[in-house]
Amino acid sequence: DSADFDDEVESVCPFCGVGCQISLKVKDGKVKYVDGINGPANEGRLCVKGRFGFDYIHHDHRLTKPLIRRADAPAKGLNVDPGNWQEFFREASWDEALDFAASGLKDIGGTGVAGFGSAKCTNEEAYLFQKMIRQGFGHNNVDHCTRLCHASSVAALMENVGSGAVTATFNEIENADVAIVIGANPVENHPVAATYFKQFTKRGGKLIVMDPRGVGLRRFAYQMLQFRPGTDVSMLNAIMNVIVEEGLFDQQYIDAYTENWEAEKEHLRDFTPEKMAEVCGIEADVLRDVARTFAGAKAGMIFWGMGVSQHIHGTDNSRCLISLALMTGQVGRPGAGLHPLRGQNNVQGASDAGLIPMFLPDYQPVGDDGVRSAFTDVWKSGDFSAQKGLTVTEIMDAVHDGDIRGMYVLGENPAMSDPDVEHARDALAKLDHLVVQDIFITETANYADVILPASAFAEKSGTVTNTNRQVQMGRPAVPPPGEAREDWWIEVELAKRLGLGWTYESPADVFAEMKLNMKSLDNITWERLEAENAVTYPSLSPEDPGQPIVFGDGFPRPEGRARFTPASIIAPDDVPDAEYPMILTTGRQLEHWHTGSMTRRATVLDAVEPEANCSLHPATLRKLGVAPGGRVRLTTKRGSIEIMARMDRAVSPDMVFLPFAYVEAAANILTNPAVDPYGKIPEFKFSAVKVEAV
Ligand code: SF4
Repeated sequence: DSADFDDEVESVCPFCGVGCQISLKVKDGKVKYVDGINGPANEGRLCVKGRFGFDYIHHDHRLTKPLIRRADAPAKGLNVDPGNWQEFFREASWDEALDFAASGLKDIGGTGVAGFGSAKCTNEEAYLFQKMIRQGFGHNNVDHCTRLCHASSVAALMENVGSGAVTATFNEIENADVAIVIGANPVENHPVAATYFKQFTKRGGKLIVMDPRGVGLRRFAYQMLQFRPGTDVSMLNAIMNVIVEEGLFDQQYIDAYTENWEAEKEHLRDFTPEKMAEVCGIEADVLRDVARTFAGAKAGMIFWGMGVSQHIHGTDNSRCLISLALMTGQVGRPGAGLHPLRGQNNVQGASDAGLIPMFLPDYQPVGDDGVRSAFTDVWKSGDFSAQKGLTVTEIMDAVHDGDIRGMYVLGENPAMSDPDVEHARDALAKLDHLVVQDIFITETANYADVILPASAFAEKSGTVTNTNRQVQMGRPAVPPPGEAREDWWIEVELAKRLGLGWTYESPADVFAEMKLNMKSLDNITWERLEAENAVTYPSLSPEDPGQPIVFGDGFPRPEGRARFTPASIIAPDDVPDAEYPMILTTGRQLEHWHTGSMTRRATVLDAVEPEANCSLHPATLRKLGVAPGGRVRLTTKRGSIEIMARMDRAVSPDMVFLPFAYVEAAANILTNPAVDPYGKIPEFKFSAVKVEAV
């Protein structure tokens, strides 16, 4: 009841890319309760994370004062007990901490400094962060966790469609009659989106689920294709082969809106369902049925997640999905479209805001002189490098090579999230100057020279953009604890000390500047967002709530044509052998979020899932002689962890599924740093692993 609370503030859930709108109920200066409200993506719904995952913001581990590493502190990287940090750090005033942070970065200067921003920050914070690295250090060595998430999907979409964002909102599934969900587990990772997918099947829609794990949506599926890990291209090419051979493609659409069709058609001839069935493990008849069903759809959508993107052939996987949609004409109409389900609440917005090494805001290439000068005109500063910057994993290599000596990390946790994480941790330990801005002493902050206490989502103003291209307004419900500050304020104060002369007084000022060089924000103003909570881009007029479907009449590519880019089979990098005979795949689970720094400090979520775990098939457990709940050792060429094993029939007998939220059994000690050549995304979804009873 409203009378029970002092205040109710409308904002956006901080977890997944669905971007559910919420009402934060405040009593005695604390958020006590969260309810769903009528946002365009959630219509009042929330999942367990959105509803119960908020009290980390009041956790007593919150950073409340700037900290500077003590001269006599033990070695960098040792675990800093949040209750006993005094051994490692001393408190400092904001002036001292900011002066120290800025002077350390300035002394190193130029390409010796790199920045990791975050998809957990707002659009304005992401924009300021990339601007600081480009304007302050003259180069593009700035990246964020899109590199570990959908970078390969974006590479394929940019190449073939001309835009990295979704062509249709996920809610458009209500106008579809067939939908494919591949390499995604929305029931756990995009739970509110999953409710729309389930409703679609209840209305008679045919859901085709494709995943090496029997993910939760299988219970609603018309067809569940549990294919061998890493064989996506063979399976998708076989489906497209059937469409070609049986003449099920949409020639009119292909002629009007695409290029390179003949090459694609020719390429697909070899990929017969019979041949590919042996590779992907799905029967030829099933592949034929899926091809006929999708090609025969009045309106079909394709959704995908990190099971598609986190491979060394992640870009090829996405190219196949794009080709499938193009050859069947399933783009640009109600109920038709391509939708990579974004992971973090603002990974779309942080990428749009230019927090990536190859693009300025709105995916404008850094190598284009006109683009750079449009930004330097607004920034009133000199030019910066036309060269693409280094990506997340390349930055860590450059630290090892001694080329990068200083880093500014805002809200990222590479000491947990990077593949082959010991390599990343060694790099962090080598840095001469590491500035970490966060709300907790994260595993990355264990290596920091200075820690700047930042704000949680419920303590700040700013916009975020969800998987649907919906720009939404986040509002503060409570003040940051102690001397913690809003992230945009910290960035501005740091930039002033780098001599950049920034004068922003609010996130609204930053948003106004973003609009000057971001056409995607045309007709979207701060005032509109304050009044309407959400506007979808593109918005065609000040009254238009935004376009849920784009590319109905051509694509933002030469001659308005999308492109078919044929994809061939590339084996995973780290294939099983006699010593490492099984396949390790990593991911999230419903209750925990990414590296766990927030959800493991959320009382309800931690109570439900308190312990690091992996999932194994019953036959595998029997063979190992391990009972469900017993412990196993997982070993790859990179390292070894011990962990509790759960029994799960959804995992095939040659696979281990491992969530990556648990520091005590960090999944990324095991994962392979080999990357996709286009998106530069690591192959988190496939490593050869040995499993032993402990
Ligand atoms: Fe938050 Fe995503 Fe759950 Fe919605 S579906 S409440 S955005 S975690």
